[in-house]
Amino acid sequence: VHSPSAPVIMTAANGHFASVGDDGDKQSFEHGIQVIDENKTFNANLPAYLDVEHVLRQGFNYHLISVFGSQSTGKSTLLNHLFGTHFGVMSESERRQTTKGIWMSKNKRAQAEGGAIKMADNILVMDVEGTDGRERGEDQDFERKSALFALATSEVLIVNIWEHQVGLYQGANMGLLKTVFEVNLQLFLKDNNSTPRSLLFFVIRDHIGTTPLSNLRQTLLADLTRIWSTLSKPPGLENSKIEDYFDFAFTALPHKILQPEQFVESVAKLGSRFREGQKTSRTNPFSDEQAEPILLPEYHRRIPADGFSMYAGNIWEQIDSNKDLDLPTQQELLAQFRCDEIAREVLVAFDEVITPLESKQADAAKSGAPSVLAGLGKAMNVARAKVLQDFTSEASRYHQGVYKRKSAELETNVDARLKSLFQGQLSAAHKTGVQQFTEAVSTAVKSGQKKGSHYDFQKIVHAEKQKALEKYEQEASGLLIEGASWSNYQQELDLYRKDLDEASGRLRKDEMRRLASRVERWVRSHLGESIGVQFNKLGSGRGGSGAPETGERGSIEKDLWDRIWLVFTETVKHAETRFTERAKGFDASPEEVEVGLWRLRRKSWGVLRAKIDEEVMEGNLLLKLRENFEDKFRYDEEGVPRIWRPSDDIEGIYTRARESTLELIPLLSKFKLYETKSLPPLEEWIGQTPAELSAADEEDLHPIGGVDEEDGKTIDEEMTVLSDAKKQDLSVRFKKTADGVYVEAKRSAIGGVTQ
Ligand code: GDP
Ligand code: MG
Repeated sequence: VHSPSAPVIMTAANGHFASVGDDGDKQSFEHGIQVIDENKTFNANLPAYLDVEHVLRQGFNYHLISVFGSQSTGKSTLLNHLFGTHFGVMSESERRQTTKGIWMSKNKRAQAEGGAIKMADNILVMDVEGTDGRERGEDQDFERKSALFALATSEVLIVNIWEHQVGLYQGANMGLLKTVFEVNLQLFLKDNNSTPRSLLFFVIRDHIGTTPLSNLRQTLLADLTRIWSTLSKPPGLENSKIEDYFDFAFTALPHKILQPEQFVESVAKLGSRFREGQKTSRTNPFSDEQAEPILLPEYHRRIPADGFSMYAGNIWEQIDSNKDLDLPTQQELLAQFRCDEIAREVLVAFDEVITPLESKQADAAKSGAPSVLAGLGKAMNVARAKVLQDFTSEASRYHQGVYKRKSAELETNVDARLKSLFQGQLSAAHKTGVQQFTEAVSTAVKSGQKKGSHYDFQKIVHAEKQKALEKYEQEASGLLIEGASWSNYQQELDLYRKDLDEASGRLRKDEMRRLASRVERWVRSHLGESIGVQFNKLGSGRGGSGAPETGERGSIEKDLWDRIWLVFTETVKHAETRFTERAKGFDASPEEVEVGLWRLRRKSWGVLRAKIDEEVMEGNLLLKLRENFEDKFRYDEEGVPRIWRPSDDIEGIYTRARESTLELIPLLSKFKLYETKSLPPLEEWIGQTPAELSAADEEDLHPIGGVDEEDGKTIDEEMTVLSDAKKQDLSVRFKKTADGVYVEAKRSAIGGVTQ
C-alpha cells in the first residue's frame, strides 16, 4: 500500500548519520517518512524530509503530535482524515498490521476538513505502531521505547480507543497507558523542572451515543487514577497526582462506516482544535463541549526545527541502547553541536567580506608600503553586525547557557580578527600620516624658499600638523565598531601625536641647520669684507686716518689684532642675535638654541681663521709690507711724496722705514691682543660644550687648538699666524723688495742732479 522507505543506517552515538540510497525527494516522501523502522533504526533522512516540507527553518513554529492505541483501531484512518495525510491503512478485507515502527507526516490541511477555522502551522504527526502484543508477539520492548520517544518529543499524545474498551481496566490500552506513565516518571526523575507537561487526548471511536461522553470521561479518569496509584513512584514523588504531569482532553467519534456523515462532521470539529491557544482559556480536563484550542505553549518541547532531527536521533539512540534518558543533557549537547554548526554557517558570509581585507592588509604590510584600506570601517561594522545577528536569530532558540557561551565565543573570535584589521589600519594611517606630514612641511618650506619670501616655519608646521591630525581622526573614527568596547583609538591617537611632534622636531632641526648656514654665510661675507679692511690698513705706514696727528707711527699696527677681535666678536654677536630670534620664532628649545649658537661661534672662528690665512698668504702679505714700507720711505711726515736729492739721508730714512716695517712681521705672526698682552680668550668666548649634543651636531666641526684638547694642538698654535720659517722667509724677501726700492730711490736722486 505504501512505498518502502529508503534504506538507512545510523552510526553510533553522537548524532552523525550516514545514509545510503536516495536522499529523499518529494516523491519518496509521499507517505511521510518512517522515522523509526521495524528494525528500530532511526531514519537519517529526517532533515531532508523537514526541508522538503519547509519545516526545517521554522524555528519553534511547529508542533508534534503522536497517536497511540491498539492495532487496527482506525488510528491511521483518523489521522488521514484529520490532517490529510497518507498513512497506510488496513484494507477492510484483510486484517494485518500496516504501520510499522513510527511514521511521521506533516499536516496537509490549512484548516480542518469541512471547517473554516485555521489550524496551526507545521503540525507534524507521528503514527506510532500499536502493539497489543498480537503483531509483535510478546515484544513489549518496542512499545515501551516508542512510548518514551513519543513522550520526549510530542506535545499531544492522542490515545485512540474503542468505546467498548472503556472501563475494561485490564485491556490492552490500559497496559499502554501504564507504560506511558512509567516512562514519564522516568523523565521527571531526571529533571522535574524542564520536562514540560503533555496533553493526553482520548479519542473514543465508534461512539454509539447511549453513554454520554461525560460518563466515559469519568470512567477513564478513574481508571487513569487507579493506574497511577499502582505505580511505584520514586522518593519525593510518592504523593504526586497524575494531573501534575498531564492535561486531559476527551472526544468521541461516531462509527465511520455506519454513520459516515456524522463521522466526518465530528472529525472536522476535532481538527479545528489543533490550533494554538493560551493556558488561561482552559480547565483540566478540557471541556468536552467547546472546541477549545489544544496546542498550548507549555506543551512545546522547545527544540528548534533545525535541531529536531539530531535531537530525536540522539534520544532514540539513548532509548534504544537502554540508557537513562536525560533530556536536559541532550538539549545541551544538541545546543553545543548546533551552535557550532550555526557559527560556521554564519561565518561564511563574514569571511567573504573580511578575508580579502585581511590579505590585502597583510600584503601591504609585507611590501613595506602600508596602505589605508578604503571603506574598511563600514565593511567591518556591517559584517560584525550581520554575523552576530545571524547567529542570534538561529542559535538563540537553543539552550540559553550554551547559546550565550557560544555567542560570546563567536564574538571573541570575530573581534580578534576585526581588532587586528582595526589596528593594522590605524598603523597604516599613522605611518602614511607622519610621512605625508613630513613631505608637506618640506614642500611648503621649499616653495617658501623659492619665492624668496620670508616664510613662517612654525606656522607651516602647525597647519600641517592640524591637517594630519584631522585626517587621522577622520579615518580612526570611521573605523569605530558599534558595540565593541575595544574599538577606541585614544592611545593610538596619542602615539600619533607624539610621532608627529617627533617629526616636527626633526624638521625643526633641519630648519635650524638651514638657518645656521644662512647666518654662517652672512658671517662669512661680513668678515670677508671687514677683516680685509683691517689688513688693508697695513698698507699705510701711518695707519690710515688720524694717525699723523698723534704722531705715533705704527699705532695702527700695534692694535691690529685688537681691532680684528673686536670686529669679529661684534659680527658674531650680531649673528647670534639674528639666529636666536629666528630660532625662537619656530619654537626651538633653549637647548637647541644653545647648540646652534655654540656651533655658530665655532664655525665663525673657522671662517675668521681662514680669512686671516688668506690675508697672510705669501704674495698678499709681501705686497702689504712693501706698501707699508713705501708709505714710510717715500712719503714724509706730512704725507707728501719725497723728491730725492743727493743731499738727502736716503740711507737713514730707508733704514728706519725698513726696520719699522720689519717690526710688523712678529706682530702679524701671532694673534695676540695689544691691550691685554695676551692671546684672545677663545675658549671662554666659545663657551662650554652644550650638554645635549648629537653626533650630527659635531659632524662638520673642525677641531680648534686649545679648545678641543684631544686634538693635541695648543691655543698658542691655534693663534700662530706665521711659522718661524715663514717669518724668516718673509723678512728675507721683504728686505730684497725694500732694497730694490732703496736702489731705485738712490738712482732717482742722482738722476735728478744730472738732469
Ligand atoms: P490502525 O491500525 O489503528 O492504524 O487502523 P487503520 O486505520 O489501519 O484501520 C483499521 C481498520 O479499521 C480499517 O479496516 C478501517 O477501515 C477500519 N476503520 C477505520 N476507522 C474506523 C471506524 O471509525 N470505525 C470502525 N468500526 N472501523 C474503522
Ligand atoms: Mg495504522
